[in-house]
Formats: sequence, structure tokens, C-alpha cells
Amino acid sequence: MDASTTECIIIGAGPAGLSAAMQIAARGHSCTVIEGNVSGGHIVVTAAIMDYPGIETISGYAFSAILLKQAQSNGVAVKTGHKAISLIRTGQNRYTVNLDDGTALSSQCVVLATGLRSVNTGLPEESDFSGRGVSYCAECDGFFFKNKPVAIYGKGDGFAEAVESLSLIGKPTYHVYPSGSPSADATGSTFEGWRIAALEGDGNLSAIHLESNDRKQKRKIEVEGLFVYMGKEPADELLKPFLTTDAVTNMRPLSYHDLARTGLFVSGHLAEAETLIEVCASGVSTAGQVSKYLQKIEKG
Ligand SMILES: Cc1cc2nc3c(=O)[nH]c(=O)nc-3n(C[C@H](O)[C@H](O)[C@H](O)COP(=O)(O)OP(=O)(O)OC[C@H]3O[C@@H](n4cnc5c(N)ncnc54)[C@H](O)[C@@H]3O)c2cc1C
Repeated sequence: MDASTTECIIIGAGPAGLSAAMQIAARGHSCTVIEGNVSGGHIVVTAAIMDYPGIETISGYAFSAILLKQAQSNGVAVKTGHKAISLIRTGQNRYTVNLDDGTALSSQCVVLATGLRSVNTGLPEESDFSGRGVSYCAECDGFFFKNKPVAIYGKGDGFAEAVESLSLIGKPTYHVYPSGSPSADATGSTFEGWRIAALEGDGNLSAIHLESNDRKQKRKIEVEGLFVYMGKEPADELLKPFLTTDAVTNMRPLSYHDLARTGLFVSGHLAEAETLIEVCASGVSTAGQVSKYLQKIEKG
């Protein structure tokens, strides 16, 4: 096998992907993990994990560092900062993963452990300001807005923690909730039943334009940061082509179980495990399935 070929490629170095990788390598198979960001996944920013059996408390960062070390010391190659942009089944037991740096890797099977992703506001200009004022993680990026005016928008998972985290750094902090009947509090910092109608800035974000849900009121607020918490959705775009007719077998898969028979495994949060212990267990369980699959194709 050349350097760009491995028995198994795992996409996503969150707890599911790293747990799967460590166990696949421990069973004697070569394995490469591709991660678009930093290793660790969503748990990496958590200050204290307190619900993992057998561990009193540990930061998400420390937990992720241990997982990464365990995987690497078993011989797993972890490529961070490389997003997988497409996944193609090129033959029986053969997949190609194309990365955003123009390189490609191939393998006999693939594990998708890409988790969930933040839902965006739907504003066309949002992507222009992403990383230039718009963020989806107060715990990760709040520090960059120390003592600067910021707004937090949404209703989704993590909203309350983000409000608390921003209260320590950003001043003033505006809270905008898109649902409910329009109301604004006396201090002018909390808007319920308002939505963001537009983002403004010359390169970096400098203001948000709000509109009440009844469209009767409009307001412009000058902020340097906007934290979006509109919920999460499955990061499953690489999977979608495989849920239609397969180019090799000409069959339409009915479930993830069908996909696993062709060497494509889905693990962790993407496979509907939720808590950390569940996603780690999902990764370990996937490793067992991958190993059986690889042994089966080796025997022919
Ligand atoms: C703030 C916060 C606190 C939490 N605290 C707890 C807690 O205390 N206890 C608990 O049990 N659970 C907690 N959770 C939940 C826990 O983080 C998740 O259950 C877990 O991270 C899911 O793991 P995963 O590996 O399936 O996915 P993720 O952690 O989402 O990892 C997926 C990885 O895939 C990468 N990826 C996605 N698409 C691509 C692509 N195309 N190419 C390359 N890489 C890609 C992503 O960058 C990411 O690193 C918390 C979650 C958050 C957000």
C-alpha cells in the first residue's frame, strides 16, 4: 500500500472517530483519521465533563488530548485541518476521500464520524462574516471579543451556557430570541420575537439589523461579535449520495446497516448516539464491525 492508501479512513476526529480509530488500530488494521478542524470534536471546549462513568471530572481539552494520544500510540495517523469534501465508492471494497487541499486518500472502508453541525441564520451574507465576527461557539471564540459589544442569537443547544460564558467577557451583550411575540426589555439588551434581518460590516462585522416578527419595528445594533445558536443538524453531506442508488451494486440502501455491508460505517452523534459515553461506545462498536469487515474481505 502506498502512503495515500490505508485499510480504513475515519472522517471526523471527535470522540467517536478517535475511539473507533484507537480500537481499529489495536486490532492490527491501518487507519487514518481526517479532521477538518482540530482533533477532539465538540467536547474539546467543555470546561468540565462530569457525567463520564469512572472519571470524577476532566476538561474536554484534557479528555480529547488523552484520546488522541491513545489513538496515535496505537499507530493511527491523524490529519487535522483537512476537510473531506467528497467521498466516492470507486469499486468493491474501495473508497476515495478527496480533501480540501486537493489531495486524495483511498481505503477499503470508511467510517463517517462527522457529528452534528451548527445551523446558520440563513442570511446570505453570513458566510462572509464567519470568522470575521460571526461565531458558533462562545466558549471557543468569546475571548477574541473581550470587552467588545456582542450579540447572541438563537434558542438552540448550548444557548444558556453561551450566555453565561459571554457574560464574563463581552460588554454589553445583546440577547436576541427569534421566537415569541415581539418584545424588548427596558435596558434595550434583550429582544424576544425579533430576528436578524441583515449583517453589516466592511470586512469584519460591525452591526446587526433586527426586525420584530410582526415587522413593525426595526433596530440597528452595533456589535463586533455575533454568536449564533440556532441548533444543530447532522453533518451528513458526505453520506447523502450513498442513500440513493449505489453506483457499484445498483442497489438502494435502506439503512446504515446496509451501508456497513459495503464498507461504509456511520458512528457517534451522526448515528444518533448522544452523550460522550454513548458516542465513545458507538466508536468502539464500529471498530468491531470494521475489523470483521476487513477480515472478511481479506479472506475473499
Ligand atoms: C458545549 C458542549 C458541552 C458538552 N458537554 C458534554 C458533557 O459534559 N457530557 C457529555 O456526555 N456530552 C457532552 N457534550 C456532547 C458531546 O460533545 C458529543 O456527544 C460528542 O462530541 C459527539 O461526538 P462525535 O465524535 O460523534 O461528534 P463531534 O464531537 O461533533 O465530532 C465530529 C468531528 O468531525 C469533524 N468533521 C465534520 N465534518 C467533517 C469533514 N467533512 N471533514 C473532516 N472532518 C469533519 C468535526 O470538525 C468534528 O471535529 C457536549 C457538547 C457541547 C457542544
